[in-house]
Amino acid sequence: MIRIAIANQKGGVGKTTTAINLATALAAIGWKVLLIDLDPQGNASTGLGVSANERPSSVYDVLLGEKTVLDAAIATKVPRLDLLASTVDLSGAEIELVDMERRTYRLADAIDTAPVGRWDICLVDCPPSLGLLTVNALVAARQLIVPLQCEFFALEGLSQLLQTVERVRVGFNPDLSILGIALTMYDRRNNLSGQVAEDVRACLGNTVFNTVVPRNVRLSEAPSHGLPALIYDLKCPGSEAYLALARELLDRLPTHAEAA
Ligand code: ADP
Ligand code: MG
Repeated sequence: MIRIAIANQKGGVGKTTTAINLATALAAIGWKVLLIDLDPQGNASTGLGVSANERPSSVYDVLLGEKTVLDAAIATKVPRLDLLASTVDLSGAEIELVDMERRTYRLADAIDTAPVGRWDICLVDCPPSLGLLTVNALVAARQLIVPLQCEFFALEGLSQLLQTVERVRVGFNPDLSILGIALTMYDRRNNLSGQVAEDVRACLGNTVFNTVVPRNVRLSEAPSHGLPALIYDLKCPGSEAYLALARELLDRLPTHAEAA
């Protein structure tokens, strides 16, 4: 199973929007996708139309070792897209995990138990912090996607994230690599957006995906309908950008031919 974490310790940069829409794009081409909502706020779960009372099991039960991923995952309205939902319990997990055995490997160990072939790919939507939950995602993943908002402080905090990635690589998961940086919320009427995108490319080069996700109100409306933007409005510029980003993701995955 391909395992990708979507992380940035800043909130509101487009992690969840990216996770939901990439997951949907991959499900649309026939992949069996598992989206893991690792944020106690549960935005990915809500955004996929799974309300709080429709989450009998969650990623919290899985981290505690009380449920397997297979038992806790639930189907969504999107064919081939399953969800390991978040519940409010997860907000305590950051602290509870500290005293647990293999505390940084809880998610990786759980994913390892998933039956081969059940899912082709899993995407982990991380919380806005660099705590144990995000570390669990980085230990479980082979690749990382970092959404960066095209705003003035975009690069601030990135070095901290990259340090965490390096620490995880050295200590727990030498296979972890950065699949790409995704520029989000690009506003072409705003010069600053263009400047930030240019600076980020100058600084990070080819790591940055060519696709830039525009600021698009349809992307922000979709979650309130419990739908991925790709289903809510396939033709909007935001959806088109996420389709293009999914294509780039496939091109960058070394093993995609095997999984498809
Ligand atoms: P994160 O998961 O990093 O906190 P979200 O994906 O939840 O970020 O995005 C934060 C807010 O911005 C949400 O309300 C979301 O709907 C909105 N949003 C995300 N991407 C875009 C975009 N490209 N254009 C407009 N609104 C967006
Ligand atoms: Mg989020």
